Amino acid sequence: MDATPLTATSTSPIAPGRSYYEDTVERPAYPALGESLDVDVLIVGGGFTGLSAALHLARTGASVAVLEAYRFGDGASGRNGGQIGTGQRLWPDELEPEIGFDNSLALFKLAEEAKASLFEFIETNRLDVDLRRGQLAVAHKTRYLKDFEAQVEALTTRYAYPHASFMDRAETERSLGTSRFFGGMRDTGTGHLNPLKLVLGTASVAAASGARLFEMSPVTTLHHRGDGRHVARTERGEIRAANVLLATNAYGHDLSPALDAHVMPVGSFIGATEPLDDDTILPGGEACHDSRFVVRYFRKSRDGRLLFGGREAYTSATGDIGKHIVKQIVEVYPQLKGVALTHAWGGHVAITMKRMPFVTSSEDGVTAIGGFSGHGVMLANFAGRLYAERLCGNRDRLKLFEDLDIPPFPGGTRLRGPLTMLAMTWFAFRDRF
Ligand SMILES: Cc1cc2nc3c(=O)[nH]c(=O)nc-3n(C[C@H](O)[C@H](O)[C@H](O)COP(=O)(O)OP(=O)(O)OC[C@H]3O[C@@H](n4cnc5c(N)ncnc54)[C@H](O)[C@@H]3O)c2cc1C
Repeated sequence: MDATPLTATSTSPIAPGRSYYEDTVERPAYPALGESLDVDVLIVGGGFTGLSAALHLARTGASVAVLEAYRFGDGASGRNGGQIGTGQRLWPDELEPEIGFDNSLALFKLAEEAKASLFEFIETNRLDVDLRRGQLAVAHKTRYLKDFEAQVEALTTRYAYPHASFMDRAETERSLGTSRFFGGMRDTGTGHLNPLKLVLGTASVAAASGARLFEMSPVTTLHHRGDGRHVARTERGEIRAANVLLATNAYGHDLSPALDAHVMPVGSFIGATEPLDDDTILPGGEACHDSRFVVRYFRKSRDGRLLFGGREAYTSATGDIGKHIVKQIVEVYPQLKGVALTHAWGGHVAITMKRMPFVTSSEDGVTAIGGFSGHGVMLANFAGRLYAERLCGNRDRLKLFEDLDIPPFPGGTRLRGPLTMLAMTWFAFRDRF
Protein backbone atom coordinates (compact mmCIF):
# COMPACT_ATOMS: atom_id res chain seq x y z
CA MET A 1 0.00 0.00 0.00
CA ASP A 2 1.29 3.48 -0.84
CA ALA A 3 1.34 6.14 1.84
CA THR A 4 -1.34 8.80 1.75
CA PRO A 5 0.12 11.76 -0.14
CA LEU A 6 1.63 14.02 2.47
CA THR A 7 2.28 17.21 0.61
CA ALA A 8 0.38 19.74 2.71
CA THR A 9 2.38 22.76 3.76
CA SER A 10 2.69 23.68 7.41
CA THR A 11 2.07 27.24 8.61
CA SER A 12 5.45 28.33 7.31
CA PRO A 13 6.20 28.58 3.59
CA ILE A 14 9.79 27.44 4.14
CA ALA A 15 8.70 24.26 5.91
CA PRO A 16 6.90 21.77 3.61
CA GLY A 17 4.88 19.11 5.42
CA ARG A 18 4.03 18.98 9.13
CA SER A 19 6.86 17.34 11.02
CA TYR A 20 6.39 14.65 13.64
CA TYR A 21 8.35 16.88 16.01
CA GLU A 22 5.59 19.53 15.88
CA ASP A 23 3.26 17.05 17.56
CA THR A 24 5.70 16.52 20.44
CA VAL A 25 5.97 20.15 21.60
CA GLU A 26 3.94 23.06 22.80
CA ARG A 27 5.21 26.25 21.27
CA PRO A 28 5.32 29.38 23.38
CA ALA A 29 4.39 32.48 21.35
CA TYR A 30 7.16 34.98 20.74
CA PRO A 31 6.12 38.42 19.44
CA ALA A 32 6.80 39.87 16.02
CA LEU A 33 8.99 42.97 16.01
CA GLY A 34 6.75 46.04 16.14
CA GLU A 35 9.15 48.66 17.50
CA SER A 36 12.49 50.37 17.02
CA LEU A 37 15.35 49.00 19.11
CA ASP A 38 19.05 49.58 19.75
CA VAL A 39 21.10 46.55 20.77
CA ASP A 40 24.76 45.52 20.89
CA VAL A 41 24.23 42.48 18.67
CA LEU A 42 21.51 41.66 16.17
CA ILE A 43 21.09 38.05 15.11
CA VAL A 44 19.14 37.22 11.96
CA GLY A 45 17.82 33.63 11.96
CA GLY A 46 16.35 31.61 14.81
CA GLY A 47 17.84 28.15 14.36
CA PHE A 48 20.57 26.48 16.42
CA THR A 49 23.28 28.96 15.34
CA GLY A 50 21.30 32.12 16.03
CA LEU A 51 19.62 31.04 19.27
CA SER A 52 22.80 29.59 20.73
CA ALA A 53 24.72 32.79 19.89
CA ALA A 54 21.94 34.84 21.52
CA LEU A 55 22.02 32.71 24.65
CA HIS A 56 25.80 32.92 25.10
CA LEU A 57 25.91 36.64 24.34
CA ALA A 58 23.04 37.44 26.71
CA ARG A 59 24.90 35.59 29.46
CA THR A 60 27.85 37.98 29.05
CA GLY A 61 25.53 40.93 29.69
CA ALA A 62 25.40 42.08 26.04
CA SER A 63 22.06 43.32 24.75
CA VAL A 64 21.03 41.00 21.95
CA ALA A 65 17.98 40.50 19.73
CA VAL A 66 17.03 37.65 17.39
CA LEU A 67 14.82 38.20 14.35
CA GLU A 68 13.35 35.00 12.90
CA ALA A 69 11.41 35.16 9.62
CA TYR A 70 8.91 32.45 10.64
CA ARG A 71 8.88 30.40 13.86
CA PHE A 72 11.96 29.18 15.69
CA GLY A 73 13.09 25.92 14.17
CA ASP A 74 11.13 26.30 10.92
CA GLY A 75 14.47 26.19 9.12
CA ALA A 76 16.67 23.09 9.27
CA SER A 77 17.14 23.15 13.05
CA GLY A 78 13.66 22.06 14.07
CA ARG A 79 13.09 19.59 11.23
CA ASN A 80 16.24 17.52 10.86
CA GLY A 81 17.24 13.89 11.48
CA GLY A 82 18.41 14.64 15.02
CA GLN A 83 21.69 12.70 14.66
CA ILE A 84 24.47 14.33 16.66
CA GLY A 85 27.48 12.67 15.01
CA THR A 86 31.16 12.79 15.84
CA GLY A 87 33.88 14.97 14.33
CA GLN A 88 33.20 16.92 11.15
CA ARG A 89 31.06 16.08 8.13
CA LEU A 90 34.24 14.95 6.35
CA TRP A 91 36.12 12.02 7.80
CA PRO A 92 39.81 12.31 8.75
CA ASP A 93 40.98 10.55 5.57
CA GLU A 94 39.12 13.17 3.51
CA LEU A 95 40.16 16.17 5.63
CA GLU A 96 43.83 15.44 6.24
CA PRO A 97 44.94 15.71 2.59
CA GLU A 98 43.13 19.09 2.45
CA ILE A 99 44.21 20.76 5.68
CA GLY A 100 46.85 18.48 7.24
CA PHE A 101 46.73 16.30 10.34
CA ASP A 102 47.18 19.07 12.93
CA ASN A 103 44.25 21.15 11.67
CA SER A 104 42.12 18.06 11.20
CA LEU A 105 42.84 17.02 14.79
CA ALA A 106 42.08 20.55 16.04
CA LEU A 107 38.70 20.44 14.25
CA PHE A 108 38.00 16.98 15.67
CA LYS A 109 38.72 18.20 19.19
CA LEU A 110 36.51 21.21 18.59
CA ALA A 111 33.68 18.90 17.52
CA GLU A 112 34.21 16.76 20.64
CA GLU A 113 33.93 19.92 22.72
CA ALA A 114 30.79 20.83 20.79
CA LYS A 115 29.29 17.46 21.65
CA ALA A 116 30.24 17.70 25.34
CA SER A 117 28.91 21.25 25.47
CA LEU A 118 25.60 20.11 23.97
CA PHE A 119 25.21 17.23 26.45
CA GLU A 120 26.09 19.55 29.33
CA PHE A 121 23.64 22.22 28.15
CA ILE A 122 20.84 19.66 27.96
CA GLU A 123 21.64 18.28 31.40
CA THR A 124 22.20 21.59 33.21
CA ASN A 125 18.98 23.06 31.90
CA ARG A 126 17.08 19.80 32.43
CA LEU A 127 15.86 19.85 28.83
CA ASP A 128 13.74 16.86 27.85
CA VAL A 129 14.91 16.42 24.25
CA ASP A 130 14.49 12.62 23.91
CA LEU A 131 18.27 12.17 23.98
CA ARG A 132 19.42 8.59 23.27
CA ARG A 133 22.95 7.27 22.97
CA GLY A 134 24.49 5.42 20.02
CA GLN A 135 24.97 5.97 16.31
CA LEU A 136 25.68 3.39 13.59
CA ALA A 137 27.21 4.17 10.20
CA VAL A 138 26.73 1.33 7.72
CA ALA A 139 28.05 0.23 4.32
CA HIS A 140 25.42 -0.24 1.60
CA LYS A 141 28.10 -1.78 -0.69
CA THR A 142 30.91 -4.13 0.30
CA ARG A 143 33.44 -1.80 -1.33
CA TYR A 144 32.92 0.72 1.51
CA LEU A 145 33.86 -1.74 4.28
CA LYS A 146 37.56 -0.90 4.03
CA ASP A 147 36.68 2.79 4.55
CA PHE A 148 34.85 1.97 7.77
CA GLU A 149 37.79 -0.13 8.98
CA ALA A 150 40.18 2.72 8.20
CA GLN A 151 37.90 5.25 9.92
CA VAL A 152 37.72 3.16 13.11
CA GLU A 153 41.49 2.72 13.03
CA ALA A 154 42.12 6.47 12.54
CA LEU A 155 39.66 7.52 15.25
CA THR A 156 40.93 4.98 17.77
CA THR A 157 44.66 5.56 17.26
CA ARG A 158 45.50 8.98 15.85
CA TYR A 159 42.42 10.83 17.17
CA ALA A 160 42.37 9.02 20.56
CA TYR A 161 38.59 8.52 20.32
CA PRO A 162 37.68 5.46 22.40
CA HIS A 163 34.02 5.03 21.40
CA ALA A 164 34.24 3.70 17.83
CA SER A 165 34.30 0.02 16.83
CA PHE A 166 33.99 -1.88 13.56
CA MET A 167 30.82 -3.94 13.07
CA ASP A 168 30.91 -7.06 10.93
CA ARG A 169 27.94 -8.13 8.86
CA ALA A 170 26.33 -10.26 11.59
CA GLU A 171 26.50 -7.49 14.20
CA THR A 172 25.18 -4.99 11.67
CA GLU A 173 22.22 -7.22 10.81
CA ARG A 174 21.40 -7.77 14.50
CA SER A 175 21.73 -4.08 15.35
CA LEU A 176 19.61 -2.78 12.49
CA GLY A 177 17.14 -5.60 11.98
CA THR A 178 17.88 -5.85 8.26
CA SER A 179 20.34 -7.75 6.09
CA ARG A 180 20.61 -4.90 3.57
CA PHE A 181 23.97 -3.63 4.88
CA PHE A 182 27.40 -5.28 4.97
CA GLY A 183 29.09 -3.88 8.06
CA GLY A 184 30.00 -0.50 9.48
CA MET A 185 30.95 1.47 12.54
CA ARG A 186 29.37 1.62 15.98
CA ASP A 187 29.84 4.91 17.84
CA THR A 188 28.81 4.84 21.49
CA GLY A 189 30.12 8.35 22.17
CA THR A 190 27.29 10.17 20.44
CA GLY A 191 23.54 9.82 19.89
CA HIS A 192 20.36 11.46 18.68
CA LEU A 193 17.60 13.73 19.89
CA ASN A 194 14.38 15.55 19.04
CA PRO A 195 15.74 18.70 17.37
CA LEU A 196 12.63 20.87 17.75
CA LYS A 197 12.62 20.27 21.49
CA LEU A 198 16.25 21.40 21.53
CA VAL A 199 15.47 24.55 19.50
CA LEU A 200 12.60 25.54 21.76
CA GLY A 201 14.60 24.70 24.90
CA THR A 202 17.49 26.88 23.67
CA ALA A 203 15.09 29.72 22.88
CA SER A 204 13.58 29.58 26.34
CA VAL A 205 17.00 29.58 28.07
CA ALA A 206 18.12 32.46 25.81
CA ALA A 207 15.00 34.48 26.68
CA ALA A 208 15.49 33.76 30.38
CA SER A 209 19.08 35.03 30.03
CA GLY A 210 17.82 38.36 28.67
CA ALA A 211 17.88 37.94 24.86
CA ARG A 212 15.01 39.66 23.01
CA LEU A 213 13.42 37.09 20.71
CA PHE A 214 11.10 37.86 17.79
CA GLU A 215 9.32 35.45 15.44
CA MET A 216 7.45 36.17 12.19
CA SER A 217 9.85 39.04 11.58
CA PRO A 218 11.72 38.62 8.30
CA VAL A 219 14.52 41.11 7.81
CA THR A 220 13.86 42.79 4.49
CA THR A 221 16.84 45.16 4.35
CA LEU A 222 20.15 45.50 6.15
CA HIS A 223 22.18 48.72 5.81
CA HIS A 224 25.42 49.99 7.25
CA ARG A 225 25.12 53.55 8.56
CA GLY A 226 27.84 56.18 8.69
CA ASP A 227 27.97 56.02 12.52
CA GLY A 228 29.24 52.41 12.40
CA ARG A 229 25.87 50.84 13.21
CA HIS A 230 23.78 48.54 11.04
CA VAL A 231 20.04 48.94 10.57
CA ALA A 232 17.85 45.92 9.91
CA ARG A 233 14.26 46.58 8.86
CA THR A 234 11.27 44.33 9.11
CA GLU A 235 7.75 45.13 7.97
CA ARG A 236 6.82 46.80 11.28
CA GLY A 237 10.06 47.70 13.02
CA GLU A 238 13.79 48.18 12.90
CA ILE A 239 16.82 47.22 14.95
CA ARG A 240 20.13 49.07 15.09
CA ALA A 241 23.28 47.26 16.19
CA ALA A 242 27.05 47.56 15.91
CA ASN A 243 27.41 43.80 15.32
CA VAL A 244 25.26 41.54 13.18
CA LEU A 245 25.27 37.75 12.91
CA LEU A 246 23.61 36.34 9.81
CA ALA A 247 22.55 32.86 10.90
CA THR A 248 20.19 32.34 7.98
CA ASN A 249 21.95 29.22 6.68
CA ALA A 250 20.23 27.87 3.53
CA TYR A 251 17.24 30.21 3.91
CA GLY A 252 18.80 33.67 3.67
CA HIS A 253 18.62 35.40 0.33
CA ASP A 254 20.19 38.70 -0.60
CA LEU A 255 21.31 39.72 2.91
CA SER A 256 24.84 38.40 2.40
CA PRO A 257 26.23 37.95 -1.14
CA ALA A 258 29.09 35.91 0.39
CA LEU A 259 26.72 33.46 2.10
CA ASP A 260 24.58 33.22 -1.05
CA ALA A 261 27.66 32.38 -3.13
CA HIS A 262 29.12 29.77 -0.76
CA VAL A 263 26.07 28.01 0.72
CA MET A 264 23.49 26.18 -1.35
CA PRO A 265 20.11 24.75 -0.26
CA VAL A 266 19.44 21.07 -0.97
CA GLY A 267 16.02 19.67 -0.05
CA SER A 268 16.02 16.62 2.23
CA PHE A 269 12.92 14.73 3.34
CA ILE A 270 11.86 12.63 6.33
CA GLY A 271 8.85 10.41 7.04
CA ALA A 272 7.50 9.06 10.34
CA THR A 273 5.61 5.77 10.62
CA GLU A 274 3.06 4.80 13.26
CA PRO A 275 4.73 3.37 16.40
CA LEU A 276 6.03 -0.06 15.27
CA ASP A 277 5.34 -3.44 16.87
CA ASP A 278 8.57 -4.78 15.38
CA ASP A 279 11.24 -4.95 18.13
CA THR A 280 13.86 -6.34 15.73
CA ILE A 281 14.30 -2.94 14.06
CA LEU A 282 17.08 -0.98 15.80
CA PRO A 283 16.60 -2.91 19.07
CA GLY A 284 19.44 -0.95 20.75
CA GLY A 285 17.78 2.39 19.98
CA GLU A 286 20.75 3.82 18.04
CA ALA A 287 20.47 6.22 15.13
CA CYS A 288 21.76 5.01 11.78
CA HIS A 289 22.98 6.43 8.50
CA ASP A 290 24.39 4.71 5.43
CA SER A 291 27.29 5.16 3.02
CA ARG A 292 25.25 6.49 0.11
CA PHE A 293 26.25 9.91 -1.21
CA VAL A 294 22.53 10.74 -1.05
CA VAL A 295 22.55 9.47 2.50
CA ARG A 296 19.69 7.55 4.13
CA TYR A 297 19.34 8.25 7.84
CA PHE A 298 16.93 6.67 10.26
CA ARG A 299 16.20 6.07 13.91
CA LYS A 300 13.31 5.33 16.20
CA SER A 301 11.47 8.05 18.06
CA ARG A 302 10.83 7.79 21.77
CA ASP A 303 7.36 6.34 21.04
CA GLY A 304 8.72 3.68 18.64
CA ARG A 305 8.11 5.27 15.22
CA LEU A 306 10.64 4.84 12.47
CA LEU A 307 11.84 8.31 11.41
CA PHE A 308 13.42 7.78 8.01
CA GLY A 309 15.17 10.40 5.91
CA GLY A 310 16.56 10.15 2.44
CA ARG A 311 15.54 11.52 -0.91
CA GLU A 312 17.12 14.85 -1.79
CA ALA A 313 15.86 17.53 -4.18
CA TYR A 314 17.75 20.29 -5.91
CA THR A 315 14.75 22.33 -7.00
CA SER A 316 11.93 23.89 -4.95
CA ALA A 317 9.36 21.27 -6.08
CA THR A 318 8.62 18.81 -3.27
CA GLY A 319 6.02 16.52 -4.90
CA ASP A 320 4.57 13.67 -2.82
CA ILE A 321 7.13 13.51 -0.04
CA GLY A 322 5.68 10.40 1.58
CA LYS A 323 5.67 8.19 -1.52
CA HIS A 324 9.44 8.44 -2.02
CA ILE A 325 10.21 7.89 1.64
CA VAL A 326 8.00 4.77 1.87
CA LYS A 327 9.82 3.28 -1.13
CA GLN A 328 13.17 3.82 0.59
CA ILE A 329 11.91 2.41 3.92
CA VAL A 330 10.77 -0.78 2.21
CA GLU A 331 14.10 -1.12 0.39
CA VAL A 332 15.86 -1.12 3.77
CA TYR A 333 13.14 -2.93 5.75
CA PRO A 334 11.19 -5.25 3.39
CA GLN A 335 9.22 -6.47 6.44
CA LEU A 336 7.58 -3.01 6.56
CA LYS A 337 5.93 -3.45 3.14
CA GLY A 338 2.57 -1.67 3.36
CA VAL A 339 3.65 0.67 6.14
CA ALA A 340 1.86 4.01 6.24
CA LEU A 341 3.35 7.33 7.24
CA THR A 342 1.72 9.64 9.73
CA HIS A 343 4.00 12.57 8.88
CA ALA A 344 6.29 13.53 6.01
CA TRP A 345 8.23 16.74 5.80
CA GLY A 346 11.26 18.41 4.32
CA GLY A 347 13.80 21.13 4.89
CA HIS A 348 16.88 22.68 3.36
CA VAL A 349 20.25 21.22 4.13
CA ALA A 350 22.86 23.96 3.55
CA ILE A 351 25.80 22.51 1.68
CA THR A 352 29.14 24.03 0.72
CA MET A 353 31.58 22.95 -1.99
CA LYS A 354 33.79 21.24 0.61
CA ARG A 355 30.98 19.97 2.87
CA MET A 356 32.46 21.98 5.73
CA PRO A 357 30.98 25.07 7.42
CA PHE A 358 31.40 28.52 5.90
CA VAL A 359 32.20 31.46 8.18
CA THR A 360 32.98 34.95 6.98
CA SER A 361 33.28 38.32 8.70
CA SER A 362 33.47 41.83 7.31
CA GLU A 363 35.49 44.64 8.88
CA ASP A 364 32.31 46.54 9.70
CA GLY A 365 30.97 43.92 12.11
CA VAL A 366 28.83 41.53 10.05
CA THR A 367 29.53 37.80 10.43
CA ALA A 368 27.78 35.09 8.43
CA ILE A 369 27.84 31.43 9.51
CA GLY A 370 26.25 28.49 7.72
CA GLY A 371 26.67 25.50 5.45
CA PHE A 372 27.05 22.73 8.03
CA SER A 373 26.27 20.26 5.24
CA GLY A 374 24.00 17.96 7.23
CA HIS A 375 26.22 18.01 10.32
CA GLY A 376 24.85 20.97 12.26
CA VAL A 377 23.02 19.52 15.27
CA MET A 378 26.09 19.89 17.45
CA LEU A 379 28.25 22.13 15.24
CA ALA A 380 25.70 24.89 14.54
CA ASN A 381 24.92 25.10 18.24
CA PHE A 382 28.61 25.34 19.04
CA ALA A 383 29.30 27.85 16.24
CA GLY A 384 26.81 30.16 17.96
CA ARG A 385 28.85 29.89 21.14
CA LEU A 386 32.11 30.48 19.24
CA TYR A 387 30.63 33.65 17.72
CA ALA A 388 29.81 34.91 21.22
CA GLU A 389 33.34 34.01 22.28
CA ARG A 390 34.73 35.97 19.37
CA LEU A 391 32.83 39.13 20.28
CA CYS A 392 34.25 38.74 23.78
CA GLY A 393 37.80 38.79 22.39
CA ASN A 394 38.77 35.16 21.65
CA ARG A 395 38.91 34.98 17.85
CA ASP A 396 40.98 31.80 17.54
CA ARG A 397 38.37 29.07 17.65
CA LEU A 398 35.82 30.42 15.18
CA LYS A 399 38.86 31.15 12.99
CA LEU A 400 39.44 27.40 12.61
CA PHE A 401 36.28 27.37 10.48
CA GLU A 402 36.98 30.73 8.88
CA ASP A 403 40.35 29.49 7.61
CA LEU A 404 38.84 26.50 5.78
CA ASP A 405 39.04 28.24 2.41
CA ILE A 406 35.64 27.20 1.07
CA PRO A 407 35.31 28.13 -2.62
CA PRO A 408 32.06 29.64 -3.99
CA PHE A 409 29.79 27.38 -6.05
CA PRO A 410 30.52 27.63 -9.75
CA GLY A 411 27.78 29.22 -11.83
CA GLY A 412 26.61 31.82 -9.28
CA THR A 413 23.21 31.59 -7.62
CA ARG A 414 21.48 31.05 -11.00
CA LEU A 415 23.47 28.14 -12.39
CA ARG A 416 24.78 26.43 -9.27
CA GLY A 417 21.46 24.55 -8.78
CA PRO A 418 21.43 22.89 -12.23
CA LEU A 419 25.18 22.23 -12.08
CA THR A 420 24.98 20.67 -8.63
CA MET A 421 21.95 18.65 -9.70
CA LEU A 422 24.00 17.17 -12.52
CA ALA A 423 26.83 16.28 -10.14
CA MET A 424 24.45 14.84 -7.52
CA THR A 425 22.58 12.82 -10.13
CA TRP A 426 25.88 11.24 -11.07
CA PHE A 427 26.64 10.41 -7.39
CA ALA A 428 23.10 9.08 -6.84
CA PHE A 429 23.56 6.87 -9.92
CA ARG A 430 26.91 5.65 -8.54
CA ASP A 431 25.22 4.83 -5.18
CA ARG A 432 23.21 2.16 -7.01
CA PHE A 433 26.16 0.27 -8.51
C1 LIG B 1 15.87 17.20 6.58
C2 LIG B 1 17.16 17.55 7.27
C3 LIG B 1 17.84 16.57 7.99
C4 LIG B 1 19.02 16.87 8.66
N1 LIG B 1 19.58 15.93 9.47
C5 LIG B 1 20.65 16.26 10.26
C6 LIG B 1 21.14 15.35 11.20
O1 LIG B 1 20.61 14.26 11.40
N2 LIG B 1 22.24 15.71 11.91
C7 LIG B 1 22.84 16.94 11.76
O2 LIG B 1 23.85 17.21 12.45
N3 LIG B 1 22.35 17.85 10.89
C8 LIG B 1 21.26 17.56 10.15
N4 LIG B 1 20.73 18.49 9.30
C9 LIG B 1 21.39 19.83 9.21
C10 LIG B 1 21.05 20.72 10.43
O3 LIG B 1 19.67 20.73 10.64
C11 LIG B 1 21.58 22.14 10.16
O4 LIG B 1 22.97 22.08 9.92
C12 LIG B 1 21.35 23.10 11.30
O5 LIG B 1 20.05 23.03 11.79
C13 LIG B 1 21.67 24.53 10.86
O6 LIG B 1 21.23 25.43 11.84
P1 LIG B 1 21.21 26.99 11.54
O7 LIG B 1 20.77 27.67 12.76
O8 LIG B 1 22.54 27.39 11.01
O9 LIG B 1 20.17 27.20 10.33
P2 LIG B 1 18.60 27.01 10.25
O10 LIG B 1 18.07 26.14 11.31
O11 LIG B 1 18.29 26.63 8.85
O12 LIG B 1 18.05 28.45 10.57
C14 LIG B 1 18.11 29.55 9.67
C15 LIG B 1 16.94 30.46 10.00
O13 LIG B 1 17.11 31.73 9.38
C16 LIG B 1 15.83 32.23 9.13
N5 LIG B 1 15.93 33.34 8.15
C17 LIG B 1 16.36 33.27 6.87
N6 LIG B 1 16.29 34.49 6.29
C18 LIG B 1 15.83 35.34 7.23
C19 LIG B 1 15.53 36.74 7.24
N7 LIG B 1 15.70 37.51 6.16
N8 LIG B 1 15.04 37.30 8.39
C20 LIG B 1 14.88 36.53 9.51
N9 LIG B 1 15.14 35.21 9.55
C21 LIG B 1 15.60 34.62 8.43
C22 LIG B 1 15.07 31.03 8.60
O14 LIG B 1 13.67 31.22 8.68
C23 LIG B 1 15.60 29.92 9.50
O15 LIG B 1 14.75 29.67 10.61
C24 LIG B 1 19.57 18.21 8.59
C25 LIG B 1 18.90 19.19 7.85
C26 LIG B 1 17.70 18.88 7.21
C27 LIG B 1 16.97 19.95 6.45
